Amino acid sequence: MEEERLITSTMQFDDSEVENVLRPKTMSSFIGQDKIKNNLEIYIQAAKSRGEALDHVLLYGPPGLGKTTLAHIVAGEMNSRLTVTSGPAIEKPADLAAILTNLERNDVLFIDEIHRLNHSVEEILYPAMEDYALDFIVGKGPSARSVRISINPFTLVGATTKAGRLTSPLRDRFGVHARLELYSVEHLSFIVSRSSAMLKTPISEDGAYEIARRSRGTPRIANRLLKRVRDFALIKGEGSITKEIADYALTTIGVDELGLDSVDVNVLTAMIDKFNGGPVGLDTIAASTGEDANTIEDVYEPYWLQLGFIARTPRGRVCLPKCYKHLGRKLSERKSQQLNMFISGEEDEEK
Ligand code: ADP
Repeated sequence: MEEERLITSTMQFDDSEVENVLRPKTMSSFIGQDKIKNNLEIYIQAAKSRGEALDHVLLYGPPGLGKTTLAHIVAGEMNSRLTVTSGPAIEKPADLAAILTNLERNDVLFIDEIHRLNHSVEEILYPAMEDYALDFIVGKGPSARSVRISINPFTLVGATTKAGRLTSPLRDRFGVHARLELYSVEHLSFIVSRSSAMLKTPISEDGAYEIARRSRGTPRIANRLLKRVRDFALIKGEGSITKEIADYALTTIGVDELGLDSVDVNVLTAMIDKFNGGPVGLDTIAASTGEDANTIEDVYEPYWLQLGFIARTPRGRVCLPKCYKHLGRKLSERKSQQLNMFISGEEDEEK
């Protein structure tokens, strides 16, 4: 069986219990993402003062950055009920129609992985989002006619790892588009300290910082690493988390000082050793390392880009000098010149 990676930002088996405890419940306890928070607060206040449903909100960005958390907060601040579902869970149009007809006035419906809705289900959403209505065809052949049923005004909060995967009719029906960014180490330190207090574990400022800087800009990973370090602090230390304990624990479990583990190192090393640092296509990288191309793109790569380890060019991914240095690989003068050519001559593509 494949071993679970500690530093993957996708949800793992033992995450959900602790995540529900640590999930911030209000906008003020949601740390970072200031622009999104400020905008949402204004839209929520405005919608509330008009007594209307909030405009539909599309949240996109890598896993573990707070999309589900924000959906809960939006519903809380709107004093509305929240219904949670996901793209793959809604199999038939009738399933979605049932959810929509059960919504009360100004409720919030959260659809995670909304890019995975199938087409016939997605079509139900168009009139629902635009006119708060469901359209049905009744009868067959020449006597078939379209019947429209009204539903209560509601807010759809859709979450996706990549907005580019949404069809444009769906994307265009969201009034608010918010892209969540990876968190700064400072913001993650706050999150680690807050979570540690909630778990009743004392932590020093530099202990929180040590966990934060290895958490790949992702609160879910920060909380997961905190849980592991807490165990080391209890067994190897005196229960409280210091920088030394955090460093010892994370090094022991194979998370390096930048938050990379053996899978990152394997993939990045393969890019340098097998493909001369690129440009190399995502599918080729995936095939040669046995990793899944979508996972590389959605889960690992955003952090490599943030670190300045790789760049995306239309001809494929290239490894940058920082990556060579971190992996102890030599970058020849010729390759370095080639790299500059790729990067300056070609735009970074956003798929
Ligand atoms: P996503 O839906 O984007 O995959 P979640 O909303 O489930 O991510 O967030 C994962 C966990 O990370 C949450 O349970 C919460 O504990 C923590 N978290 C996310 N964003 C924040 C934040 N801004 N402040 C504090 N904790 C956060």
